[in-house]
Amino acid sequence: MTTKLRPRILIIYTGGTIGMIENASTHALQPFDFSHLIDNVPKVKKLGYDIDNIQFNPPIDSANMSPKHWSEIAQAIEKNYDSYDGFVVLHGTDTMAFTASALSFMLENLRKPVIITGSQLPIGEVRTDGEENLITALQVAAAIDDKGDAMVQEVAILFNNSLWRGNRSTKMSADNFNAFKSNNFPPLARIGLSVTFQTDCLYRPAQSEPLVVRTSLDPNVMFLELHPGITQSTLRHLLQTPGIKGIVLKTFGAGNGPSDSWFTDLIREAVGRGILILNVTQCVDGGVNDTLYETGNSLTAAGVISGHDITSEAAITKLMYLFGAGLDVTAVKRELEHALRGEVTIRR
Ligand code: ASP
Repeated sequence: MTTKLRPRILIIYTGGTIGMIENASTHALQPFDFSHLIDNVPKVKKLGYDIDNIQFNPPIDSANMSPKHWSEIAQAIEKNYDSYDGFVVLHGTDTMAFTASALSFMLENLRKPVIITGSQLPIGEVRTDGEENLITALQVAAAIDDKGDAMVQEVAILFNNSLWRGNRSTKMSADNFNAFKSNNFPPLARIGLSVTFQTDCLYRPAQSEPLVVRTSLDPNVMFLELHPGITQSTLRHLLQTPGIKGIVLKTFGAGNGPSDSWFTDLIREAVGRGILILNVTQCVDGGVNDTLYETGNSLTAAGVISGHDITSEAAITKLMYLFGAGLDVTAVKRELEHALRGEVTIRR
């Protein structure tokens, strides 16, 4: 892996387990002050990088992440874009895949690495995975290709021994060090004795335009997860949620729902009221193939849009982003038919 001499990296510390350290007197876990990064993680000095920090005040558990925080991160990147070679975002693991997906849409024409990482154990614990994740994230953020351009020009999640495309990733484990995976897309890099990039998998923006940061996200979207036995009244209530514009319908298998006529009638009626419904599979792997079974076909006939192999995290944040851009339902549907940042594979 090649880096330039003294790469400049900005760390944006939002919170999460990685930033916790034990208070020497009380033994309680408390957020770590990243302005003292080198004192606490001396190995960082050996990298020979110029590193600056920005911290959320106070740092947050990622269960409290919201579009407002995503805007803060995106704006910090925009403001510092020309001054740094790469960005490392330290984040709790719980909603990391949502943040990675949201940022990928918000940062249009990104040409520099935005590497998100965290850890399962606090950086102050003896067996922490945080130190290694942080150091590798810094190295990945500093990596350049043969032409001297940033190796990674997208939002990615670095965790344990892999680098994943952010908007393809999902948190797979609540306690394993190997907590993230992009089930429908190969890793961008394997972290072993060295960092091996899969160069043919790395995203490159179509044209070389200046970075555009869009921070307006519409929160009037929701998940609606099917289960056998879902009642007519539950479905009716959910579909009548006030103000709702977009629904990610989490269906069975290859995009199937019940065949009962009340079910398809309610869905059709909601679509008729101008609600956009995107079909996403509940499976962690694979995607929607709504022509495979009658039960998927009837959803398409009712006006539901196929989400193909998109993750739930990317689906919900893509809807927030598209409605936030002021698009109407017809325009949002059009944008769902192609990938904006490599988040979906559409086979026709
Ligand atoms: N609850 C924590 C968070 O997401 C868990 C973690 O950091 O891994 O902020």
